Amino acid sequence: MAMDPVCRMMVDEESMEWTVDHKGKVYHFCSRGCGEEFQENPEFFLAGGISRNSHCSCCGP
Ligand SMILES: [Zn+2]
Repeated sequence: MAMDPVCRMMVDEESMEWTVDHKGKVYHFCSRGCGEEFQENPEFFLAGGISRNSHCSCCGP
């Protein structure tokens, strides 16, 4: 398991289609929305920021 750095839910790497390569490290996301949000502002999430958007398909609005 890996942690989605945007919404902080645990995701299964093997079933995830949304991965983002950032500075040589691969991050996994529960949904496209989380992956895209991370790509827009990776430093924010790596520093501990949590998304306030409700696009997350897993956590719901
Ligand atoms: Zn997510």
